[in-house]
Amino acid sequence: MEKKNGKSEQKFAGDIERVVEYAKKDLATLLEGKTLAYRKKLGNIAALVPGYSFAYLIALDPSLAPVIRKIGKMVESAVVADFVKSSDLEGLVTEIAGIIELAKLGATGVTKISDGHFILRVTECADCGGIPDLGRPLCAFDEGLIEGAISTKLGKDVSVKEEECVKEGLKYCDFTIKIVG
Ligand SMILES: [Zn+2]
Repeated sequence: MEKKNGKSEQKFAGDIERVVEYAKKDLATLLEGKTLAYRKKLGNIAALVPGYSFAYLIALDPSLAPVIRKIGKMVESAVVADFVKSSDLEGLVTEIAGIIELAKLGATGVTKISDGHFILRVTECADCGGIPDLGRPLCAFDEGLIEGAISTKLGKDVSVKEEECVKEGLKYCDFTIKIVG
């Protein structure tokens, strides 16, 4: 798939209009008292103003992604890392998945590829759920959150990459988590 990150500004032409169009649909659904299609399990959360979440900021201005990722990593190395207890990757991924679900940031599932490689799947994502498929991942804060909490706790280098972010017909975010050092 063609990645838009790092490409010229023109590649993002039309993204803002599409985000606004989706946000308007969400607000209309909310005002009708209906449940948003992408929050059937966890309950409504909607972009009344596009920009309410980190993913919206990145959707509207892709240059913010590295900064937001860095902030997520920095702050959650201090916060989430303080509340997880496991000493192995599997335990930590499972605990963080539980926190994400309790906070209603998303419903979660964990797949083990090997002892040092897991996939954390987030459905009904509160960060990017209402954003149209822009062909690029948007949940950079969450990447930083997971990476910061796990690497701090394990004392090892961990790489977290959002391989899939809510696409049309693919309503989940997949975070690949690997120990790299
Ligand atoms: Zn995402």
